[in-house]
Amino acid sequence: MGHSVSPAMHNAAFKHMGLDITYKAMLVTSDGLSDAAAWARGADVLGINVTVPHKEAIIGLLDHMDPEARAIGAVNTVVNRGGSLEGYNTDGKGFIRALEADGIEVAGTRVLVLGAGGAARAVCYYLAREAGGLYIYNRTPERARRLAAELGGEGRTVSAIERLEGFLKRVDIVINATRLGLDADDPLPCDIKDIRPGQTVCDLIYRTTPFLREAAARGATTVDGTGMLLYQGVLALELWTGEKAPVGVMKEALKRALK
Ligand code: NAP
Repeated sequence: MGHSVSPAMHNAAFKHMGLDITYKAMLVTSDGLSDAAAWARGADVLGINVTVPHKEAIIGLLDHMDPEARAIGAVNTVVNRGGSLEGYNTDGKGFIRALEADGIEVAGTRVLVLGAGGAARAVCYYLAREAGGLYIYNRTPERARRLAAELGGEGRTVSAIERLEGFLKRVDIVINATRLGLDADDPLPCDIKDIRPGQTVCDLIYRTTPFLREAAARGATTVDGTGMLLYQGVLALELWTGEKAPVGVMKEALKRALK
């Protein structure tokens, strides 16, 4: 998981930047979250990353929220400013930065997101602003409807999709933001017989999933979640240090850690 490779990525960056900072992974239970937040206010702590299942629960323990993180409803990055904790979400922006780095244009495209959990919320928040149309499909339709209602308006086309049949051929970008693909015996997140060359298929899971393999075999351009993991880290490091992150160093360290 991301938290086990993040130390390698961040520590390589700190070393390269000549900063005497160490990133450590800590296992925190729900009962221990408030103690962890109290610890994060310490003078020698620059900030923390928060991962599943604490991304929502941490909000109640913070002093300030970035407006975008508040709208997303989840925090993955906390900055300690002199004992005051500020919450940010770098996941969604990280995903968009990863697409840009791969030369994939979102503006004006029709994007289908599979899933309406935390990661989907973060990426949809930014996609809704940039895409020509954003369509959200989720196993539990009510969550997709709620998310679409939150993100629509102001001239944006954001809709929840109840049935996927025949829909895939009508979009430019398909994104798997469900957890399907994490386990070896998971089914594909959707029937991909309609995937065609010219489409981009992304998976937020940071390796080549069966979904991406099948999509590539049908001629689609594929993007796994490694870039999102990298850029959410880049943005977090820049928030903590106020300095430009060494993206290439972090990318290489991440690649080595994921091997
Ligand atoms: P989450 O909040 O628990 O949401 C899980 C999503 O998966 C929900 O939409 C859920 O649908 C759906 N789902 C779960 N089991 C399913 C099944 N059997 N059939 C159909 N849909 C199912 O998790 P999350 O934090 O959003 O994470 C989602 C994925 O994104 C994970 O694979 C995670 O590793 C990845 N991720 C990657 C990065 C990165 O940096 N690359 C960052 C964050 C997350 P329901 O609403 O119906 O339960």
